[in-house]
Amino acid sequence: MSNTAFVSTAIPYVNAKPHVGFAFELVQADAVARYLRLIGRDCFFLTGTDENSLKNVRAAAEEGLTTRELCDRNTEFFKALLPGLNISNTEFIRTSSELHTRGAQELWSRTKPEDIYKKHYSGLYCVGCEDFYSEKEAEDGKCPEHKTPLEHVEEENYFFRLSSYEEKLLELIESDRMRIVPASKRNETLSFIRGGLLDFSISRSRKRAGDWGIPVPGDADQVMYVWYDALANYLTALELTDNSERLKKYWLECDKRIHCIGKGINRFHTVYWPAILMSVELPAPTEVFIHGYLTMNGQKISKSLGNVIDPLVQVEHFGVEAVRYFLLRAISPFEDGDYSESRFHDVFNADLANNLGNLARRIETIGEKAGHVPKPAATPEAPEGYHEAMEDYRFHDAMAALWAVATNLNQRIEKVKPWALQKEGKKDELAVFLDEMIAGLGIIGHWLTPFMPGTAERLQSMFKEGKAIKRGDPLFPRLK
Ligand SMILES: [Zn+2]
Repeated sequence: MSNTAFVSTAIPYVNAKPHVGFAFELVQADAVARYLRLIGRDCFFLTGTDENSLKNVRAAAEEGLTTRELCDRNTEFFKALLPGLNISNTEFIRTSSELHTRGAQELWSRTKPEDIYKKHYSGLYCVGCEDFYSEKEAEDGKCPEHKTPLEHVEEENYFFRLSSYEEKLLELIESDRMRIVPASKRNETLSFIRGGLLDFSISRSRKRAGDWGIPVPGDADQVMYVWYDALANYLTALELTDNSERLKKYWLECDKRIHCIGKGINRFHTVYWPAILMSVELPAPTEVFIHGYLTMNGQKISKSLGNVIDPLVQVEHFGVEAVRYFLLRAISPFEDGDYSESRFHDVFNADLANNLGNLARRIETIGEKAGHVPKPAATPEAPEGYHEAMEDYRFHDAMAALWAVATNLNQRIEKVKPWALQKEGKKDELAVFLDEMIAGLGIIGHWLTPFMPGTAERLQSMFKEGKAIKRGDPLFPRLK
């Protein structure tokens, strides 16, 4: 077992501002990365932006900007999300950067020569997905994902010989050497492969690409297909050159290589990407975790419906800790989940203000009055089921295990009535009881770190060993 880990988000297109769906993915991946660090792994956590898309070229043209100008401007919105959501990424990769360009070309050059060939062909293309669809997949000539008309494209491109990787991909997935979570998505991938794999185009003409993208090594008329280059980001950020220490440490010799992605791009990450890696003789990811989509009050979130939620506005309104809590606890990690402010209010008041917040407040108040000084404590064990839940990306279950501790402590307070002990001057009994409470809060304060790092830190400093307890501001004042 290595003591390192690699965790990534997918990289979003920058043709529009980020919405809460990407915030969801960032927060999930951040919880994974922080958890791995908490259990002692040196984790490289990567996010970034996908800038070589035709979407960006078109969005820039509409605004009268160059593609470079649009990318530079919009990338800043994505970067601003990171401190806003308290994301602990190690690196931020832009696919229009020089580092990425060189790396993607390196990946192309290392591909087995027999796996790349040039062919004239035509197909139905969705710019939204940056992907081709077969007549069978495209009902009425429309994209199954976007429901927009597909474009007929005809040109000469380079192809990747995906068809020769069927057996190897099946073996990789069936053996769980590349674990796909949840099982429903694993089955989706397996049946897609069993249905027969077609070679896929990995370049386009420079002209159709709007003269934007990464040139194919040795052919100035072609640029790389945006998905080919986008997938490469996971390795280009690790400096895909011959003797890169980073690559060795966080990919080649690392036994936890995790991609966190949304359900719409499963095929790219569990079929195309591992096949590309097999061709260049680099290891595949060990885990691909796939989340569902967010809806808003039961409706799809989209610009045209005018219900796009700006995650930073939510953070301003509710605080970053509460936003992280809601996304990780109240939304299923795998199924589509609904984001609504009224539900947010209810969850905030019930779980954060009334349960955990009130618990910490009560112990602070009693502890301060009693002049209590917390004793030194070893790293607490996680509650039952916590680690298993984290291994399976069931963040909500891991958090439920922590909230069960809080509920239990609140019940103990009701039962023991420490304020009565205080009144009756039963100092020793009260001290024993406070130690018990602080030990319980210590479990929460430690294992809450992946989800709510700010709250975890607050709890730890509220009841710090050797420091007399002093009441501070409440953790979560009730929302009206
Ligand atoms: Zn589409």
